[in-house]
Amino acid sequence: MSIKIGIIGGSGLYNVGIIKNTEEIEVETPFGKPSDKLTIGKIENIEVAFLPRHGKNHQFPPHKVNYRANVFAMKECGVEYLISTAAVGSLKKEIKPCDFVIANQLIDRTTKRETTFFDEGIVVHAGFADPFCKILSELAYKTVDDQGVDVHNGTYICMEGPQFSTRAESNLYRSWNVDVIGMTLAPEAKLAREAEICSCGILTVTDYDCWYEGEEDVTVASVVENLKKNDKNMADIIKKLVPKIKYERTCECKKALDNAVITPRDQITKKGNQQVNKVLLKRFIQK
Ligand SMILES: [Zn+2]
Repeated sequence: MSIKIGIIGGSGLYNVGIIKNTEEIEVETPFGKPSDKLTIGKIENIEVAFLPRHGKNHQFPPHKVNYRANVFAMKECGVEYLISTAAVGSLKKEIKPCDFVIANQLIDRTTKRETTFFDEGIVVHAGFADPFCKILSELAYKTVDDQGVDVHNGTYICMEGPQFSTRAESNLYRSWNVDVIGMTLAPEAKLAREAEICSCGILTVTDYDCWYEGEEDVTVASVVENLKKNDKNMADIIKKLVPKIKYERTCECKKALDNAVITPRDQITKKGNQQVNKVLLKRFIQK
């Protein structure tokens, strides 16, 4: 299978029906099952693979999502570009509810998640200074801007959840100059990098988190209302973004593991999780 574009997002995106001629496939990975069946279909006649991050019935909380299985399943489909969509809270006044943010930096504050594909008998240190693909992110930014939706580049902080942050935490992150807060882009972006997939985070702002005095605190009702509006905008934007993606990659993402594999090449076939290495380290394995 060779589907170049993958999307991991909320089930809202799927429900609005932008993906046509869909077929669902069950995928099993060395890390277990992804959050749901993969939906293979077409957006503007271009084949894509879609996965609802929390499952179709929103049954997996952020700390229980099988991120490794999700990203691995995308890699096995042949995905080279991964669009991650997610809802976030804003930590800055100028980033308003229903604005879009393209993640350009990431702070990972999660503690309970599996963050690497390589944890058995093999050492891989992938570079992650710039966690998202610059080319794909710029394309996403321009697409949102062209749509007439207010858009920002920003730093995303990933908290463990599932509770929202305290006022003290929210103010701490603001003092770090973080732009938005969420619970899902880590370790998704790390795993995409290890899989040498270009990734971008297209984020929709649902609320001001809890730091903003004078506004009502985050309530489920206000979040749900903004989510609906954001889903509609997101669907329009994804529909325009997908046809703009170039199939020939000129960025560094496809070479992310070039200097990252520390274990000698002749040992790769003998060590670690062979099923994983066969897919992710194919080009390193000595014939
Ligand atoms: Zn890239």
